[in-house]
Amino acid sequence: MRVDRVWRKARLMTMRGTDLGVVEHGLLAARDGRLVYAGSADAAPAFDAAETIDCAERWITPGLIDCHTHLVFGGERAAEWQARLAGVPYATLAETGGIRATVAATRAASEAELTAAARTRLARMAEDGVTTVEVKSGYGLEVAAELRQLRAARALGETGLARIVPTLLAAHALPAGVTEADYLDQVALPLLRAVAAEGLASAVDAFLEPIAFSAASVRRLFAEATRLGLRVKLHADQLSDGGGAALAAECAALSADHLEYAAEAGLAAMARAGTVAVLLPGAFLTLRETKPPPLAWMRAHGVRMAVATDCNPGSSPMVSLLAALVLATNLFGMTVPEALRGVTVDAAAALGLGHDIGTLAPGQRADLAIWSIEQPADLAYWIGARPLWRRELSA
Ligand SMILES: [Zn+2]
Repeated sequence: MRVDRVWRKARLMTMRGTDLGVVEHGLLAARDGRLVYAGSADAAPAFDAAETIDCAERWITPGLIDCHTHLVFGGERAAEWQARLAGVPYATLAETGGIRATVAATRAASEAELTAAARTRLARMAEDGVTTVEVKSGYGLEVAAELRQLRAARALGETGLARIVPTLLAAHALPAGVTEADYLDQVALPLLRAVAAEGLASAVDAFLEPIAFSAASVRRLFAEATRLGLRVKLHADQLSDGGGAALAAECAALSADHLEYAAEAGLAAMARAGTVAVLLPGAFLTLRETKPPPLAWMRAHGVRMAVATDCNPGSSPMVSLLAALVLATNLFGMTVPEALRGVTVDAAAALGLGHDIGTLAPGQRADLAIWSIEQPADLAYWIGARPLWRRELSA
């Protein structure tokens, strides 16, 4: 069979089945950017390849997927972080500056400036084997600025550094002096229609929390998103139990993210709805939270778990998805297979892209990360090792 590329002498983590799907003497073949074979070298048909890559017994995973980031923003908030170190609570800072500081800097930046700043962060993410990055808006809080953020995300995808999946974070924070109802009528709902018309995002996100938006507003927003054919995702139960897990399940959300305070019944509902739990240990660390997400309940009910950086200037200034694996295992008690599936197959599910990316299987995109490691655990065990040998991003 004629193919474009073959990767031989490889050890594969295919992420097929319920574990890592390891194939020790593995081989991959790709044609037109898609895998046509992923399995045992011994059982492989003969390939006539234009290019053959000898992996010298290195490990190959699907290209990693960072399924929750706020990568496009103006400015940074190192001073606020230092105030938190000095003991000022996040909720207090949220009232006085917080997200609003980033909103001001984002509104002041041009699309080109937003893209350039995000490109630097994206390049660092790619060095950790990341090939797909979800990017949320949510720092504009007005129609034009939100659209500018999403266009910057689209431009980021055109750099060829990674596949970008833009999400409209339509309800992130309320501008001062505006009611939730007015914000929905004047900003969030018109924005939804504009984004759907221009095809700027495939999903809509909201922040359900007493310092952000109420369940009633989220329901209204998600009903309109669904009507427009957009999928939904929710920042849920991060700082308190707001019933976010149950609400996400009720709305058939792709994912509910954070979930430190999620209730067991809500998690059971998520499992039934196929809503993925996205765990964000960078925010947990940076906010110095003490209550980890209830993994025992997630496992008991069969909730799929993903891991992401939540890269943002306020609560998770993190550009390394491998660092998120270190934190998810050490702080949350995820097993290595759970964590590695959480940045591949389960992260793909959190984006609704499981048919396209996240596993090594025929038909999937040939997005790969090739690692100079001895064993799968090394990806979460070593801190700051940077073991990526080579990354493949299919066209
Ligand atoms: Zn977030």
